[in-house]
Amino acid sequence: MMADIVYKNKINRIRTFALSLIFIGMIIMYGGIMLRKVEWLMLIFFIIGMLAILFSCVVYLWIGMLSTKAIPVTCPSCSKPTKMLGRVDACMHCRQPLTMDPSLEGKEFDEKYNAKKYRKQEKNHAAK
Ligand SMILES: [Zn+2]
Repeated sequence: MMADIVYKNKINRIRTFALSLIFIGMIIMYGGIMLRKVEWLMLIFFIIGMLAILFSCVVYLWIGMLSTKAIPVTCPSCSKPTKMLGRVDACMHCRQPLTMDPSLEGKEFDEKYNAKKYRKQEKNHAAK
């Protein structure tokens, strides 16, 4: 199930979205300049363009908030530091799928972060 999805890091994905919003806003505003002969149309294009850029700023703020919640991990695949959002996320550098949940593990995951859970599992087995 997991192998079928090409993972992209969530923070990176949102960042790409915010960046593309800026470009879209600029293209729309450029379109407004092209239509400067029709004043009201130019104005509408400018407003839409400005809104897109403003929205991207909001998205960037949101990324900042998410980054504080993200868990820093070292990628087991490329051993670079990356940030994880949620139970499953991908490495920012090599897109290695990472998971915090042992039940979701299908691929390699950060051993360091699952160590505690493993210890718990071992204890449970020992108790039985
Ligand atoms: Zn990596």
